[in-house]
Amino acid sequence: MIRRPLHYLDNNATTRVAPEVVDAMMPFLTERWGNPSSGYRFGHDLAQPLIRAREQSAALIGAPPESVVFTSGGTESTHAALNAALHGRQGHPHMIVTAVEHPATFRLAQEYYRRGHKVTALLVGADGQFSLDTLRHSLTKDTAVVSVMWANNETGVVFPIEAVTRICHERGVLVHTDAVQAAGKVPIDVQAAGIDFLSLSGHKIHGPKGVGLLYVRPGLAFQPFLFGGKQEQGRRGGTENVPGIIGFGAAAERALGRLPEMNSRVRILRDRLESALLTRIPGTQRNGGAEPRLPNTSNLAFEHVEAEGIMLELDQLGICVSTGSACSSGSPRPSHVLTAMGCSPRRARGSVRFSLGLDSSDDDVEAALAHVPGIVGRLQTEAPGT
Ligand code: PLP
Repeated sequence: MIRRPLHYLDNNATTRVAPEVVDAMMPFLTERWGNPSSGYRFGHDLAQPLIRAREQSAALIGAPPESVVFTSGGTESTHAALNAALHGRQGHPHMIVTAVEHPATFRLAQEYYRRGHKVTALLVGADGQFSLDTLRHSLTKDTAVVSVMWANNETGVVFPIEAVTRICHERGVLVHTDAVQAAGKVPIDVQAAGIDFLSLSGHKIHGPKGVGLLYVRPGLAFQPFLFGGKQEQGRRGGTENVPGIIGFGAAAERALGRLPEMNSRVRILRDRLESALLTRIPGTQRNGGAEPRLPNTSNLAFEHVEAEGIMLELDQLGICVSTGSACSSGSPRPSHVLTAMGCSPRRARGSVRFSLGLDSSDDDVEAALAHVPGIVGRLQTEAPGT
């Protein structure tokens, strides 16, 4: 089999585990495989590396280490946060989310609705933003929690989390943010943002899959989502995923250190790719406002084509992009995010997400620029009715 070089432009779906993260994890897969809860040293000697990983992870979001709960990923963190918020504010059956949340939040909100909660989904405009006035007017005396993602996984649009928190706290409402896509791409300071709960995922920051982090504001009552032993200060039962947590810590430290590169080199590459595709392919439009936006993401709508066709042709060339979000690809339905922004189903189905990362190079951008215009142009001429 001839192996082509991989041009991976889908870093919002997942990222390569960084070599230094693998190195940090390896001893905990091979030699130090004990259970941290054991009474003998082979187990409880793991406490020290776990403390360090907690400190490294907390530093990425400006949090005190004891406010960090390790979980199995972004999805679990969000479930645990919303469960705790609704439990902590019983008698307040209302929650607010945005219409463009990741399914980890959106589907959960639908499930709460099915179980009898009141749920409001904030509508967004063509730029992908909701209005703070709409948020203000949606808060009621019944509202327990508002969940607004820090940045959208499909368009990269960044939301005004500090303002959201200010507005909600004036009314005694808790705030959760899904910062899975924001981490390592924009600075996050949970204390400045005043946020109550925040979710992160290891595999989006060059860490391993199956490990995540939940920040819980110090002093906030917290009802566990998973009961069990005394792990994570009794906040999350289950034997610690030691290699995963060590990997998360190493990945978080690396992501923090390379934030400047993400906002300079990677941003320049993204801008070059985006502006070249916008100018070379007539009729192409960006989905979502240009700013504030993650520095790595570009979501483009190509006229008179199915993005699925573009993705499959690029796949043959070793170029990875996605249509809609990775979790929803394979489903023929147009992305709920683009639809919520007012895109027609046709435009949504012609949209491709390019998401760069710290591993992205000039070569990756050149490969996309060498092939995307030709593929789109050919598919456009073959399209019926054009
Ligand atoms: N939230 C966002 C914005 C995401 O992009 C993802 C992953 O695609 C998740 C949550 C889910 O995270 P995990 O895969 O760690 O459960």
